[in-house]
Amino acid sequence: AAFPALRPDPAVLHRRPTALLPTLGAQVPLVTGGTVDYANLDVAASAPALASVAAAVAEALPGYASVHRGAGYLSQVSTARYESARDTVAAFVGARDDDVCVLTRTTTDSLSLLAGCLPADGAVLVLDVEHHADLLPWQQRSRELCDVLVAAPTVAGTLEVLADALAARRYVLVAVTGASNVTGESLPLRQVADLAHTHGALLVVDGAQLVPHRRFSLADTGADWVAFSGHKLYAPFGTGALVGRRDWLDTGRPYLPGGGAVGQVDLDATTWVAAPHRHEGGSPNVLGAVALAAACDALSALAPGELEDHERALRTRLVEGLTGVAGVRLLRIWSDSVDPTGVVSFTLDGADPGLVAAYLSAEHGIGVRDGRFCAHPLLARLGVTGGALRASVGVGTTSDDVDRLVSAITRFVADGP
Ligand code: PLP
Repeated sequence: AAFPALRPDPAVLHRRPTALLPTLGAQVPLVTGGTVDYANLDVAASAPALASVAAAVAEALPGYASVHRGAGYLSQVSTARYESARDTVAAFVGARDDDVCVLTRTTTDSLSLLAGCLPADGAVLVLDVEHHADLLPWQQRSRELCDVLVAAPTVAGTLEVLADALAARRYVLVAVTGASNVTGESLPLRQVADLAHTHGALLVVDGAQLVPHRRFSLADTGADWVAFSGHKLYAPFGTGALVGRRDWLDTGRPYLPGGGAVGQVDLDATTWVAAPHRHEGGSPNVLGAVALAAACDALSALAPGELEDHERALRTRLVEGLTGVAGVRLLRIWSDSVDPTGVVSFTLDGADPGLVAAYLSAEHGIGVRDGRFCAHPLLARLGVTGGALRASVGVGTTSDDVDRLVSAITRFVADGP
């Protein structure tokens, strides 16, 4: 059994996507013949749904109906499920009493939604380490109102760079990643929030890579919003959330104009309701919300530190294993960052990452990511023009998965590309 210590109830979490994809199976074919246990080291891209998530969807599936506007019994049940899922998701990220939780489709959606709610002429400050989802919405609104800072080589230096920028221009918002999707590294969010607030700016955290791997709390960090995706949190695609302060969301541009978002529509005027419904026009994804809430419940049910310790140990094993292989260069943003998540990117001297990723899959049944990870500015600054490889871990990853990757890379180097 995988990670028994992590399984207070063996039925709560499962290791492979098999339970959801019975026809795919845990065994994958190899070009050399035969099959092998699939080693999924691409959890940062999308995390296979937990068995308890599948069970929650299966339970809700037979009896769903359109929410909010139906008087029928099923509509009432669905509405209750949807709104209770919202509460669970908000609590999972430590929402304060007056925070609001908008259910979206992805982190990309959540950040674009917030971008549409920014006060006119309000400038935004971001770092060059961001995933494109936390860069392009601000730039697209206005390049003049979006300053992109180059992160310093140390966390302490980056906090100084941020402080200097905040003192030099008035910003309404600072947008930072909770954990880098390239290196797993983080800034101390409490300090970033304090810094932003001291200068009259608010803080949004791109929590896509943080929330599934560390206990995150809006209340504890003081961050104003957090955005995240269900498919990285062991729930299916098409679910996400933006949780945080109500004011901008109550008055900002409705993200999805349509049924449910309005108070009154006359042909010459429309009044909009407040958040969250203001941004959730159309029939919402009730089953997705149920799934996302089930994933939040499953992670919350783990003992504090249990998941974190599991992933920390795997990261250490991964870093130590890869460091011992000739020609491997691990990517880092900051030399002094603490407690990175289990995301490790690296290059291999003289090797095309796409080729290495294909080799790992075809000859070893190992899934990793290759490319530039939707973080082109960061990779360019780190001098990685041809892309890199990324291995990432989660609840279902075992030390055997990690060891297989390290020995496959070692063999690749020994045999030559
Ligand atoms: N932010 C980070 C840090 C990510 O890793 C990702 C996805 O890889 C995103 C945002 C975008 O997530 P989504 O594709 O679910 O919108």
